[in-house]
Amino acid sequence: SVAGKTAIITGSNSGIGLGVARELAKAGANVVLNSFTDRDEDHALAAEISQETGTNARYIKADMSKGDECRALIEKAGACDILVNNAGIQHVSPIDQFPVDKWDAIIAINMNSAYHTMAAALPMMRNAGWGRIVNIASAHGLTASPYKAAYVAAKHGVVGMTKTVALETAQEPITCNAICPGYVLTPLVEAQIPDTMKEYGMSREDVIKNVMLERQPSKEFATVEQLGGTTVFLCSDAAAQITGTAISVDGGWTAL
Ligand code: NAD
Repeated sequence: SVAGKTAIITGSNSGIGLGVARELAKAGANVVLNSFTDRDEDHALAAEISQETGTNARYIKADMSKGDECRALIEKAGACDILVNNAGIQHVSPIDQFPVDKWDAIIAINMNSAYHTMAAALPMMRNAGWGRIVNIASAHGLTASPYKAAYVAAKHGVVGMTKTVALETAQEPITCNAICPGYVLTPLVEAQIPDTMKEYGMSREDVIKNVMLERQPSKEFATVEQLGGTTVFLCSDAAAQITGTAISVDGGWTAL
């Protein structure tokens, strides 16, 4: 079902997006990697995936904070059977000190980009007679933590947008779902450890154990491979009637 399909994964030169791209390519999809940079390493990642999987992998630069570049990514790819909206950033700060530029960037990259890519991709999916949209939201799309107002707002927005698009495509061979990861040890999470240490006055070890994994009853990070596997499942025939849902991959966080 995934084999031979074209999959575009936004924000996929690192972390979860890269893990999702690798799993989709292993399942036979031709993947389009993306970020806002255009370095040799970015293109080398695509070449490596092509070589390992025998599929066609490409890297296309586009800045997901800009609506026209989001749409241009889909147009440049030329096809989009599977769309994974994954690009995302974080900033940790109390709301009364939250920098306006950080607020705007988080809303643009984490939420508005999904509107632009879905708007551009849906006509292609309708033409092809098949489509899968997977929006990488977060446990913070279903619940909140202090100091993450922009991120929590954007991720709740993504979950809401997912439900709306699922209803708009309900009678078509297209599904739209969200995946809500708990903590995954990626560069994004690494980067927020120092700020969280400052907010709570804790050591690195205590932030990992008592702040991050405190919310995750399994006491383990989820992995990028597990998120890739969940994405491949949502693209399978078994998942054809799964639409408009938010699937948690969070070690029990949202069961608390
Ligand atoms: P990451 O920092 O490793 O990856 C983020 C990706 O987005 C990178 O490829 C980066 O280049 C890209 N990106 C950032 N700004 C961009 C822009 N303007 N245009 C295009 N690409 C851009 O982080 P990650 O943890 O892999 O996060 C991926 C997604 O998963 C995010 O949406 C994040 O909110 C979500 N998420 C992560 C966790 C976690 O614990 N790591 C948990 C829940 C949800």
